[in-house]
Amino acid sequence: MQFAERLNNVETSAIRELFKLLGKPGIISFAGGFPDSALFDVDGIRAASERALTEEPGAALQYGATEGYQPLREQLAGFMAGKGVTDVAPSDFLVTTGSQQALDLLGKTMLGPGDKVIVEGPTFLATIQCFRLYGAEVISAPVDDQGVNTEALEKLIAEHKPKMVYLIPTFGNPSGATLTLARRKKVLELAVKYQTLVVEDDPYGDLYFGEAPPPSLLALSAQVPGSRAWLAHCGSLSKVLSPGLRIGWLVAPEALRERAVMCKQFSDANTSTFAQATAAQYLKAGHMPATLAQVRKVYAERAQAMGDALRKELGDAITFVAPQGGLFLWVKLTGARGQLQDANVFAQRAIAKGVAFVPGTPFFAQNPDNATLRLSFATADVAKIQEGVARLGQALAA
Ligand code: PMP
Repeated sequence: MQFAERLNNVETSAIRELFKLLGKPGIISFAGGFPDSALFDVDGIRAASERALTEEPGAALQYGATEGYQPLREQLAGFMAGKGVTDVAPSDFLVTTGSQQALDLLGKTMLGPGDKVIVEGPTFLATIQCFRLYGAEVISAPVDDQGVNTEALEKLIAEHKPKMVYLIPTFGNPSGATLTLARRKKVLELAVKYQTLVVEDDPYGDLYFGEAPPPSLLALSAQVPGSRAWLAHCGSLSKVLSPGLRIGWLVAPEALRERAVMCKQFSDANTSTFAQATAAQYLKAGHMPATLAQVRKVYAERAQAMGDALRKELGDAITFVAPQGGLFLWVKLTGARGQLQDANVFAQRAIAKGVAFVPGTPFFAQNPDNATLRLSFATADVAKIQEGVARLGQALAA
């Protein structure tokens, strides 16, 4: 069969291949990007879905507006207002089937063969693949522990004149890094100066362990004249409430949003009305603050446990910056004292010892750093984390 040429630009994800090994009995996995299903507020979501079916059965089970279910758009506007975004109206939200769909719609509306996009090196693998599927050339900007290096980013923007700059400014996947306030302002200024769309992907911003992170680019754009016209923001309930609901959203300049709505119309017509009505009921009932407090507490304990265990078991063989939020810990093998420095080899040895993680290589659109790897601390409890990291120590010594 002759498939579309665009498929030649992407490969099946290396991560998916690795996931096939995870079924092995006894494996402790730090590989997934999932939240912990044991933390889902099942009772709260069940009650919200029952209210959706009792109070609004016709709407909850019918087709709906492509833009999204109005009561959910209102709740989302309230949710974002709680995070400092006070000048965005319900009608500014396009509800999407996960934020993954928002990224796909951005690709569909903005990118064609030969267009350039700048992303962080490393970044979310599915975004790289999605943008490549539209024919884009994906260029990598360097990231440090304060997020993307804005000086390097400006040079790359000036050189490549990209259609888009895609960033995960808060608790990045996989880097765990958070962009500083000063750099956030700089990014918004660059968007205006070079008239380049900046995409803020923010599924993790609510998952902070101590102090709240700096305000989102969307919140800050109110302070940088002209920047709102060059900013798209993707949000999601997946990591804080449930990815099974598939509720995400896009806030974007009107002309872009309208085109994204048109593309969504031809794709899935609308995001599940039942899921939207359930999410709206959940938010309306005011459950979110308690849910957030609970997930933050559990992930903070696990992040701490993983950091402590890594220092104890792997010592100078690695460096990492303790994450302040999110689900991931990004590690670099130092190669100190002749120790292993290739994370792909380390991953194979680790599987043999009964522990899995994702090597960093596939997260780079260009110039992969093979000494890096991503550990998720989200789904294993503290005892499993300690056992898994001990196995990592053994794998490294093997
Ligand atoms: N963006 C990032 C950075 C992610 O890590 C993920 C999920 N792993 C998504 C978007 C997509 O999430 P969802 O479609 O479930 O909202």
